[in-house]
Amino acid sequence: MNRSTLDAIGRALRQHHRFAILSHVRPDGDALGSTLALALSLNELGKNVRAWNEEGMLEKYSFLAGAELLTPPPNAPEQFDVAIALDTATQNRLGKAAEAIRKAKIWINIDHHPSNPGYGDLVYIDPIAPATGQILFDLISTEKLPMTPAVAENLYAAISTDTGSFQYPNTTARTFEIAADLIRAGVNVGRLSQLLYENYPKRRVELLRLLLGTMQFGCDDKLAWFSLSQEMAKSVGALPEDNEGLIDHLRAIHGLVVAIFFEELVDGKVRVSMRSKNEAVDVCAICQTFGGGGHTLAAGARVRGTLTEVTQKIVEKACDVIRHNS
Ligand code: 5GP
Ligand code: MN
Repeated sequence: MNRSTLDAIGRALRQHHRFAILSHVRPDGDALGSTLALALSLNELGKNVRAWNEEGMLEKYSFLAGAELLTPPPNAPEQFDVAIALDTATQNRLGKAAEAIRKAKIWINIDHHPSNPGYGDLVYIDPIAPATGQILFDLISTEKLPMTPAVAENLYAAISTDTGSFQYPNTTARTFEIAADLIRAGVNVGRLSQLLYENYPKRRVELLRLLLGTMQFGCDDKLAWFSLSQEMAKSVGALPEDNEGLIDHLRAIHGLVVAIFFEELVDGKVRVSMRSKNEAVDVCAICQTFGGGGHTLAAGARVRGTLTEVTQKIVEKACDVIRHNS
């Protein structure tokens, strides 16, 4: 933990008044939980806070405390003292929300993606942290910012989702200590876990059934992938958020090294989502060669082309990397 940077961020949070908190497009539990946690804590300090995400609040996370604070960005720009980007590896992944900020005096960038180039004035990137929520816990506790039960619940949701329920290799003793502190601060683990993991709409499982129908294996069964066309998504009424986590069904296969999910987007691109089970097979590096990024074991990219074209290119590249490194 770099205490002096956290102190500088803490001072900026106390000194200024108008804040915009942003995170990445296609937000996950870490992006939304972190945004709400910081927004709620700054609200407690009496600050004027906007919490914006391109997608607004997702239905699946709408039970989070303070969810009503998170909205899509307005069309007209607003004036801020401080803009805060959370969990966002590249500035363009902030989407339209970034355009709605007119000349913030200070940009703060808090993230745990190793590929984050460090944009902004006050930059705190901890690539070891399993979730941006864990960095915010450090910020809020060392800087003595308000930690209400509502803040704690959002931090717990951020950490729980980004560690795959405390399972991924970057989960440390410290992560569990932080979780324990969050429980002491008011989190009801049973209730929150049920809302996070046992509360999916039926259409998500229907989507999984369709996806498993497209499942393919390659590279001596070390690689598996499935694909979602617009038509498939439409047939079950799936929202983009419904497919978060479905790739885990592939990752869980014995002997598998890389899992890939291909999703046809409306703009002539394909969203590629990758998971690796072997640190030597760096899916971030693979995604970076296609203009994306992320972490060693979980990464993504948006690649121009049809589902068939993109699948062929990516599968070939992934198999090449698997053969040379595993
Ligand atoms: P997911 O596969 O869950 O969408 O994303 C996994 C990780 O890769 C996340 O940390 C996410 O931020 C990153 N990621 C996903 N898509 C992209 C992308 O298009 N560009 C970059 N730079 N990172 C991405
Ligand atoms: Mn994250």
